[in-house]
Amino acid sequence: MTILLLGSGGREHAFAWKMIQSPLCEKLFVAPGNAGTASIAENVAIAPTDFEAVKALVLKENISLVVVGPEDPLVKGIYDYFKNDESLKHIPVIGPSKLGAQLEGSKEFAKEFLIKHNIPTAAYDSFTAATVEQGCEFLETLQPPYVLKADGLAAGKGVLIIHDLEEAKTELRNMLVHEKFGAASSKVVIEEFLDGIELSCFVLTDGKSYKILPTAKDYKRIGEGDTGLNTGGMGAVSPVPYVDAVLMEKIETRIVKPTIEGFQKDGIEYKGFVFIGLINVKNEPIVIEYNVRMGDPETEVVIPRLKSDLVELFLSVADQKLDSFELEVDPRSATTIMVVSGGYPEEFEKGKVITGLENITNSIVFHAGTKLDNENVVSNGGRVLTITSYGDDFQQAIKKSYQNIDKLNFDKMYFRKDIGFDLI
Ligand code: AMP
Repeated sequence: MTILLLGSGGREHAFAWKMIQSPLCEKLFVAPGNAGTASIAENVAIAPTDFEAVKALVLKENISLVVVGPEDPLVKGIYDYFKNDESLKHIPVIGPSKLGAQLEGSKEFAKEFLIKHNIPTAAYDSFTAATVEQGCEFLETLQPPYVLKADGLAAGKGVLIIHDLEEAKTELRNMLVHEKFGAASSKVVIEEFLDGIELSCFVLTDGKSYKILPTAKDYKRIGEGDTGLNTGGMGAVSPVPYVDAVLMEKIETRIVKPTIEGFQKDGIEYKGFVFIGLINVKNEPIVIEYNVRMGDPETEVVIPRLKSDLVELFLSVADQKLDSFELEVDPRSATTIMVVSGGYPEEFEKGKVITGLENITNSIVFHAGTKLDNENVVSNGGRVLTITSYGDDFQQAIKKSYQNIDKLNFDKMYFRKDIGFDLI
């Protein structure tokens, strides 16, 4: 079959890498892709949110499965676009419906869903410009730090955690009245601060049944010791050593099951990934967010640990036969270390020639912000590429990734040297 994958990051390179291993995948298109996907599939210069262009490609190339990597096309309703189009409705899209994608597209929608289905989450209230003063009064009833969340998509920057009450009030006004995050902060969720260890749970669902994928932990900050600015993610480890069977059981019974049952009760069509962000407070897992797609770079450690055929897995989601699918997981650890452009997540330069890629051994290179420039692979984004390795334990896997990173070079290349060190 011919498959179309939408997106251009390391996540999509990892999906592509795994899908082309399937005997079912005769041809893979990636839109728009990167230099890594270009080496194993055919890139097409189409934006994932340009549904008309996606439709034209799907019909021209006789594509029979569409896999969506990032959230934007999902929140914009690509699932419904296919379903409501006579010429596309027989083609499965791996991702939630537009309504389901609201779990990521609107923090308030997610909170209402969580409360309605009795899923543990932090206490909250939400406010608009018209109720900004009530928002300030609500802040006065809470203990610091204060958690302010822009309701809409804000490229991962819409959450503020503030220690000072007056500053929290000022920021609330900035968000609601002065559109700090544009339309995304025309509504703000104020949430109780949860003190605990963060973890993520990745689930694949066909809307009726589900599979819990291997656990993974990512490293969000730019600096060592998890300091400095937030990034898209600087590395990841799978499995997470501190997630034991008891905690997993709690996560499944209290959070995953009621989430999938909630989809059914609310008539939410959902055939895709659910990424549940949790904080473990004294061994009680509490939800802080839903994402409606896989994490990046977590995908670059989770997907390499799946032994099952990914295309078969996606087809069982499309056919709602996930309950009879035997998910096979590689017992080895996998780690990934992101190599970024110096200056990221602030100003950085692009177009730097990357050398040494041919010398990588015993690791997998997943490209993120790269492109081909004549014969050269050049940087084309903040997060440039990520080096994934397997090991009997995560220390061994990390060692391999660092040995291989030493063989790479480009001007102002940067990476964190402490990925996984907190787990030792
Ligand atoms: P979110 O986009 O909701 O995941 O929020 C971004 C980050 O803010 C999370 O990764 C957490 O580190 C932090 N965060 C979000 N909600 C809370 C909360 N209720 N308590 C403590 N930290 C939070």
